[in-house]
Amino acid sequence: MEKGKPENTPDWKEYYERMKETAPLVIHYPICGGGEECIFVCPFSDKIWEVVPMKVSLFGFKYKVRLRPFMANPENCKKCYICVQACPTGALRPVEKPVRHPALVLLYNTLKLPFKKKYGVKFVFRKEHAEKFKKNN
Ligand code: SF4
Repeated sequence: MEKGKPENTPDWKEYYERMKETAPLVIHYPICGGGEECIFVCPFSDKIWEVVPMKVSLFGFKYKVRLRPFMANPENCKKCYICVQACPTGALRPVEKPVRHPALVLLYNTLKLPFKKKYGVKFVFRKEHAEKFKKNN
């Protein structure tokens, strides 16, 4: 999906609320980097995820239109939480455990990254995620 015109683009909170009402997961978009790690690891990604334009900052910088993952068809989710494990920043969480302190969650997950056995630094810096990061931001 393209980024589109800024004036017609919803704020990230609209997508957050929609997932909160309909999905088993929520994304605290201001600490989502947009590398699509969640979509890459989801076994049913095509049936669940879309990448949509929304107005959001990147880790507190520059509020503007960016592309971010959104669960368009949450009814197809199997609640395996592989995507939650693969999220490098902690932005993606089960709906019953939402992010309460974004700065702390981001710091904690960034520090944890080099020690993660699976989905650690090597995974995050893979070429496909770097390309998505560039395109989506
Ligand atoms: S919980 Fe599992 S099935 Fe649901 S979106 Fe995440 S990876 Fe996909």
